Amino acid sequence: MDDNTQAPSELETLTLALLHSRGEVERLRERESLVSSLLGSVNVVLWAFDWQQQRVVYVSPAYESVFGRSAALLMSDYGEWLNSIYPDDMEYAAQSLASVLENGAVEQREYRIIRGDGQIRWLSDKCFVSPRSTPEGQPLIVGIAEDITEKKQLQGELHRLATTDVLTGVHNRRYFFESGERALEQARGNGHDLAFLLFDIDNFKKINDSHGHQVGDRVLQRIAHCGAYVLRRDDLFGRIGGEEFAALFPGCDAQQARQMAERLQREVQRLSFTAGGQTFAVTISQGLTSLGADDSLEALYVRADEAMYQAKHSGKNCIVLG
Ligand code: GH3
Ligand code: MG
Ligand code: MG
Repeated sequence: MDDNTQAPSELETLTLALLHSRGEVERLRERESLVSSLLGSVNVVLWAFDWQQQRVVYVSPAYESVFGRSAALLMSDYGEWLNSIYPDDMEYAAQSLASVLENGAVEQREYRIIRGDGQIRWLSDKCFVSPRSTPEGQPLIVGIAEDITEKKQLQGELHRLATTDVLTGVHNRRYFFESGERALEQARGNGHDLAFLLFDIDNFKKINDSHGHQVGDRVLQRIAHCGAYVLRRDDLFGRIGGEEFAALFPGCDAQQARQMAERLQREVQRLSFTAGGQTFAVTISQGLTSLGADDSLEALYVRADEAMYQAKHSGKNCIVLG
C-alpha cells in the first residue's frame, strides 16, 4: 500500500488542528486590533458595565482622551467614574444610570465631568440594557458617551441671540412676552400680585434728528442699562419696540410698582448725554397697571399702553396708573 494514501496519524491530526487554531487566533488578533484602532480614532467612548458587580467591564480607547483619565483605573474601580462627575450633576448621573434597568434605555442623558486636567466638559452619555447579559446571567449596561461641550456652548449662544436685543443687551420683545406668560401663570397659581409697566422715551425723534442716529442708539443703551439697574432680580425687563420698554414686577402691588416706576423716572432724569459739544437729558413717560382677576397678559399690555398714552397727553415725563 502507498504511504501517501495512509490515514493521517493522531499526531498529524493534532498538528493540523493546532495550525488551524493558530490561524484563527491570528485572525482574531487582527480583527481586535482593527476594531481597537477604529474605536481609537473616533472621539466617542463605548463602555459596558456589570450592574451586579458594579464594575466597568469594557471601555473604549477614547475614554482616556475624553475624560483625560486612566482607563486602567476605571476598569479596576467604578468609583473613578463617579469621581469624574461634576458635583452638581452627580445625583442625576447616578440616578439616570440606575433608571436604565427599568426603562431599557436612557437616550437623553447629559451631565458635566471634570477631566483629569481640571477642565469641565459636557457629555452626552446614552445607555441601554444589552441584549447579552454577563456570563453569570446578570444585566449588562452598555453606553456611548460623547463630548458635547462645543454643541452646548453653541446652543447657549443661539439662545442668547434669540432672546436678547442686540443693541441694548436686555431681553427682546419675544422673550419678554414668552416669559411674561410664565410669570403670569405663576402669579395666578400662587395668588400673588403682579404689575406691568410700559415706558417710552419722550421726544426721541428729536434726539435722532438733532444729534444723529448713533447718539439715539447710545441713549437707548443707557436707558436700558438704567432699567436693568433699577429693577430687582426677579423682575422681567425688555425692549419691546424702537424706544419702548416693558417690565413685569412679580409680587408687587400697584403701590410698590409705583415706587419702582418713580425710582426709574428719577434715575433716567439723572442721566446726562453729550453730543457735538451740547449736553442734554431725556425723560420717559410710563403707564402702569396691575393684575386683575381675569386679566390676560395682552389685557395688561393694552391697559398699560393706554395709561402710557395718557402720560404722553398729560405733558410727558410722568407716570399714569391704568
Ligand atoms: P413721543 O414723545 O410722543 O414718544 O415722541 P417720540 O419722538 O419719542 O416718538 P416717535 O414715535 O415719533 O419717534 C420714535 C423714533 O424712534 C422714531 C424712530 O426713528 C426712532 N427709533 C426707533 N428705533 C430706533 C433705534 O433702534 N435707534 C434709533 N437711534 N432710533 C430709533
Ligand atoms: Mg417716544
Ligand atoms: Mg414710541
